[in-house]
Amino acid sequence: MTNHDPKFDFDNTYARELEGFYVPWQGAKAPAPTIVQFNDELADDLGLDSDALKTADGAAIFAGSVAPDGAAPLAQAYAGHQFGGFSEQLGDGRALLLGELLDKEGARFDLHLKGSGRTPFSRGGDGKAVLGPVLREYLMGEAMHALGVPTTRALAAVTTGEEVVRDGMKPGAVLARIASSHLRVGTFQFFAARKEWDKVRQLADYAIDRHYPELAQTDDKYLGFLSAVLENQAQLVAKWLHLGFVHGVMNTDNMTISGETIDYGPCAFVDEYDPKAVFSSIDRDGRYAFGNQPVIAQWNLTRLAETLLPLIDADDSENAIRLATNVINTFVGRYTEIWTNGMRAKIGLASVEEGDGDLINDMFTAMDGQKVDYTLFFRHLAHAALGKNDEVIALFEDGTKFESWLTLWQDRLLRDPLDPSARAKAMNKVNPIYIPRNHRVEEALVAAEADDLAPFTKLLEVLSDPFTKRAGLDAYEGPAPEGFGPYKTFCGT
Ligand code: AMP
Ligand code: MG
Repeated sequence: MTNHDPKFDFDNTYARELEGFYVPWQGAKAPAPTIVQFNDELADDLGLDSDALKTADGAAIFAGSVAPDGAAPLAQAYAGHQFGGFSEQLGDGRALLLGELLDKEGARFDLHLKGSGRTPFSRGGDGKAVLGPVLREYLMGEAMHALGVPTTRALAAVTTGEEVVRDGMKPGAVLARIASSHLRVGTFQFFAARKEWDKVRQLADYAIDRHYPELAQTDDKYLGFLSAVLENQAQLVAKWLHLGFVHGVMNTDNMTISGETIDYGPCAFVDEYDPKAVFSSIDRDGRYAFGNQPVIAQWNLTRLAETLLPLIDADDSENAIRLATNVINTFVGRYTEIWTNGMRAKIGLASVEEGDGDLINDMFTAMDGQKVDYTLFFRHLAHAALGKNDEVIALFEDGTKFESWLTLWQDRLLRDPLDPSARAKAMNKVNPIYIPRNHRVEEALVAAEADDLAPFTKLLEVLSDPFTKRAGLDAYEGPAPEGFGPYKTFCGT
């Protein structure tokens, strides 16, 4: 042992305050834990000693083989609606909460392991994860973070030294991830389904203290809590739509109370604009399609609201339903406002006019069915803000309708205070040039599974600064080549 032993200053409120909401548990022993990727920047924010963690001791901790001092490893209980059907018991079937850490600013984070072995919640599953999906979650989380989207993040990816049965044998792996918390809509559902209302109240009080402390002393704090989660989810899903992100499995157990994106499984970014875009192999009806995500967010929030009814008014359930419904009904208005404001920025408007909503909708109508690359569209539109229209028009199969729209937009710009160069700059600050293109992600994961991490680390580096166009990275800008075909992603792998 060196004087650089891995050390964590855990402060485990979940374990301490929420007994009965989890099962204390240990990870499986991995035969040969090895660090594949480590997030130095995040470790530094968390006040962790990277050198001490990028060691065999650190690898054993991140694989779940060894619980570090001060950890209180546990599997959390939760339920959830999966594709609309309710499961009373899901829970951490292949994951453990190791403990909570405070970052340099005093913000609290869970340190969580995914793929660390079976737990009492595993049902038929093996409790394992494999390298490809672990690295996909690592990459997507980091990309989303750099894009300014609230998200869980990867601290480390390790291989376990074990082969795991999937589609053939795959290298076993564990993701060590950081999240503001792992409280989900499904955590509330677990106790509400059992009519354990004292526990739902205890959980809500805990969630308020942890995420919305300003509500603690207010009247109607549970209604306020519902509004606060609704606001954060509206903000989150609007960002997804601004960027072309499809989560792919927005089950209520995959929706956080904090408003962070969680559980990157069958997710992907769209190349072409298409509200019906679906990548998940099991989402046959398009429940979680790109354009359906706000509808599902509201549906999930309604499920959260149902769990809170007895807390909102214990004596008068009609009144509780009325009050909760009023909150849920604010979703469409709030979402539309947030989405429209973000879209205004994306098309370079610094001012607000009543007709902007129509202008934005007309833009999407012009894009419909045109196979326009969603990411390049906004970057090329910044050139059109400088008077160079050709590039953006060329993205359309038939640009006739869009050219009429360009005229409307350029008229609108005359009534906006920004000068052309400031406008183009502002647009490029909100419209990324580099996103995790499906063919690039796939290429990186295939190489990583064959022991070549170079494409993965390169892609990670490109995506760490998604808004700044850099020399030599042209190959990361564009959509998948024709031959790549339709993209499919898979759940729970
Ligand atoms: P997910 O689809 O990853 O959000 O997981 C949904 C549920 O299935 C959660 O309860 C997971 O813990 C569980 N699960 C997914 N994969 C496995 C696995 N390989 N072994 C055990 N449980 C799993
Ligand atoms: Mg999940």
